[in-house]
Amino acid sequence: MQQHHQRRAVIAGSAAIMATGSVGHVRGQPKPNVIVIGAGLAGLNAALHLQDGGARVSVLEASSRLGGRIHTRRDLEGAPEGGAKQVHDSYTRTQARIRELGVGVFKRPVLTSGTAVNIGGVNVSAKEWPTAAINKLAGDERGLPLATLRFQVLTKLNPLTDLQAWRQPAFQQYDVAFKPLARSLGISDEALRIMEFAATSMGLDDVSALHLFRRHKQSQAAEFGSTARFFTGGTSSLPDAIASKLTTSVLFGKQVKGITQSKSGVEVRCADGTTHTADFVMCTIPFPVLRDVALDPAPSGGVGLAIRALPAVHATHIHLIARAPFWHDDGFPPTMFTDSPLEMVSKLFDEPGHESGSLLLELRGRGCARFDSLPEADKGPAILTELARLRPASKGKVDYLGIDSWATNPLFKGGYHYFRPGQVTAFGAAMFSPWGRVHFAGEHLAEIGVGLEAAMESSEREARAILTKF
Ligand SMILES: Cc1cc2nc3c(=O)[nH]c(=O)nc-3n(C[C@H](O)[C@H](O)[C@H](O)COP(=O)(O)OP(=O)(O)OC[C@H]3O[C@@H](n4cnc5c(N)ncnc54)[C@H](O)[C@@H]3O)c2cc1C
Repeated sequence: MQQHHQRRAVIAGSAAIMATGSVGHVRGQPKPNVIVIGAGLAGLNAALHLQDGGARVSVLEASSRLGGRIHTRRDLEGAPEGGAKQVHDSYTRTQARIRELGVGVFKRPVLTSGTAVNIGGVNVSAKEWPTAAINKLAGDERGLPLATLRFQVLTKLNPLTDLQAWRQPAFQQYDVAFKPLARSLGISDEALRIMEFAATSMGLDDVSALHLFRRHKQSQAAEFGSTARFFTGGTSSLPDAIASKLTTSVLFGKQVKGITQSKSGVEVRCADGTTHTADFVMCTIPFPVLRDVALDPAPSGGVGLAIRALPAVHATHIHLIARAPFWHDDGFPPTMFTDSPLEMVSKLFDEPGHESGSLLLELRGRGCARFDSLPEADKGPAILTELARLRPASKGKVDYLGIDSWATNPLFKGGYHYFRPGQVTAFGAAMFSPWGRVHFAGEHLAEIGVGLEAAMESSEREARAILTKF
């Protein structure tokens, strides 16, 4: 159904371009003409805001689908989430859109309890963990739930006073590598070793402590109500619903290769040879990907630095399905935190009234490469062998469905942005500025929000900024 809709959209888009030669400004038309690049949540939300504000909008998307890092894998059994899966209580903009569009959601507890622990290949329950022999943490750390160790350590260290404080000069002293700072503040080497699993950076030496403190403040706000909202029919329902309100179709297969601007407008060139002109551009391409797009004249200042240097953490989702509840046989919960290559195993919350054995493995950071780099045919067997090593009861009872490796996808090159030591100071504030007629939005450009809410916050802010210029 969605594929059919998208095929129609591609054909309609091609026809429009052939008819006009471009999606550019028409003389005498009072409405501003804006090209939105990227049909992820930020691009689609920007397009709807711009449309509602009276602009004429075209959306160029490189791939053949809507949603970007939202991707409900409708091609796989159980339709698991390749990217974003949950919306938190603090996501006010996202929830407002959900209500306005009538998108179905259901509530479930945030996943923190009942988690089994597997360290060094040994399983223990969450209850046994504080006194287990495999627990090599120091002092008070020993009693902390392992799945939330990072959160608890950051709660102890975080000096930030509120969600906006991360860009204030007073806190720039924390824009240094996290690992040595944490060590100097009494965090044990074992805690730091465990924090490298399911990480939000490519290593604790490589990330600014200020970035982690900011993320922690966001997590505190996000998990305040300790419930999360999941989408009936999958997270892709949200981008689908937004796109259905646009009066022009998204143009798929439009990989932007170059953007040139002059005093009078902007020209966008795509890999398929088409050229599109507009008064303004809203660019939502993740910065590690935008780095390969020819920008003329080259952006200077903080935004130029950020485009050249902002990194993204690797993120991989692996989809499995248990044909029998093997966790009843070994007595440990299916949800597991481990220092093995599987990192974090979750039994998915099913929609009310629908029980399945869907399991999600969430890999983050350096550990993603272990499976991302295997030949396609070897991935499933390698993952199931590793699961059977950790949980022998799972052997022969679990099937591999598929994998989403965001770091190896050239349209994303990672899962989420982060700041290296010194980068918040270098461009944390200045990267929010537009580059002349080109405005930037996306998860990397929110002041307060995180994840989906960051895409909503930045796209709303920049759409308003464009509309006020008319
Ligand atoms: C594994 C994973 C799990 C996540 N889980 C959650 C969660 O549970 N909750 C949450 O809030 N957030 C979560 N997130 C984050 C959330 O998915 C993102 O913050 C959000 O979807 C980003 O939206 P965006 O529009 O900024 O970027 P994107 O979704 O990346 O959109 C960018 C778009 O630009 C397109 N594009 C790229 N290059 C070009 C080009 N050259 N020309 C044209 N188009 C191009 C891409 O194809 C894409 O469609 C998760 C992310 C990942 C990776």
